[in-house]
Amino acid sequence: MAAGSHSISGKAKVAGVMGWPVGHSKSPALHGFWLKEYGIDGAYVPMAVAPENLGKSLKSLFLLGFKGCNLTVPHKEAALQIVDEITPVAKAIGAINTVFVLPDGRLQGTNTDAFGFFENLRQSVPGFNVTRAPAVVLGAGGAARAVCAALIEAGAPEVRLLNRTRARAQTLETAFGPKIKATPWSDLPAALKDAGLLVNSTSLGMSGQPPLDVSIDTLPTAALVTDLVYTPLETPLLHAAKKRGNKTVDGLGMLLYQAQKGFEGWFGVKPEVTSALRSHLLSL
Ligand code: NAP
Repeated sequence: MAAGSHSISGKAKVAGVMGWPVGHSKSPALHGFWLKEYGIDGAYVPMAVAPENLGKSLKSLFLLGFKGCNLTVPHKEAALQIVDEITPVAKAIGAINTVFVLPDGRLQGTNTDAFGFFENLRQSVPGFNVTRAPAVVLGAGGAARAVCAALIEAGAPEVRLLNRTRARAQTLETAFGPKIKATPWSDLPAALKDAGLLVNSTSLGMSGQPPLDVSIDTLPTAALVTDLVYTPLETPLLHAAKKRGNKTVDGLGMLLYQAQKGFEGWFGVKPEVTSALRSHLLSL
């Protein structure tokens, strides 16, 4: 229903996504759906920006009258050195995925992945209380940093972080403080025993990647299981968790909720995440 183009005027508000390559990005379809849904005089465009041109491209946003942009691979970390202002959450995560052009032309960089991650859990499982039990997070890459920031902000008592390369988990422990416990991968069964949340933030289980080959036999069935991987939507981890009675939340919602804040800042409307939007993105 919301697929396809909608007409815009010469006064249209413009935003977009910079990436290299950018063709894989779902953001134009996502924001395009909302623009059409809310009848907004606006456009959201893909911008293929080579790494060496990121600085010039970001600085041009104001000159071109853009409201801002999203950043995707490989620009999220490099942008930290370019924007004029960095929000605390972007600083903590060490990456920027959303840029707002302020009225005076300065660029504010923020990161909406932590919000997207937790909002997805909050909306999908309204009764979920992260403060009651330790969380177990697999992975220590960029996505795991956003998950750690979100869980600490939400009041998780402890976050057990397990990663193939333990040194990377230890780096996050140093960065985020004592609530993060870098835990050896081999200790997963013990780490799961009293956990209230299990998060896969590795790329394992994604189509084209090796499977996430772990046993969750020791995880309480009351624990919530979520996977940041959303291709396939039901990953083998989510399938196994559902089968033994755990509640599960897929990763597509994180992508949708992280986009809300950028859209609201650029176009002035807080958009809703609906099943129609999910279906639209899944149909692409
Ligand atoms: P990343 O920075 O490249 O990190 C990849 C992580 O996966 C690292 O922890 C890495 O461990 C681990 N890993 C990769 N191959 C592995 C293997 N063969 N065995 C064990 N561990 C392995 O990537 P990222 O940006 O954090 O993204 C991770 C996943 O989250 C991706 O699938 C991405 O699509 C997804 N994601 C989803 C959303 C969403 O909105 N749903 C948002 C962001 C990311 P090492 O440190 O040992 O290499």
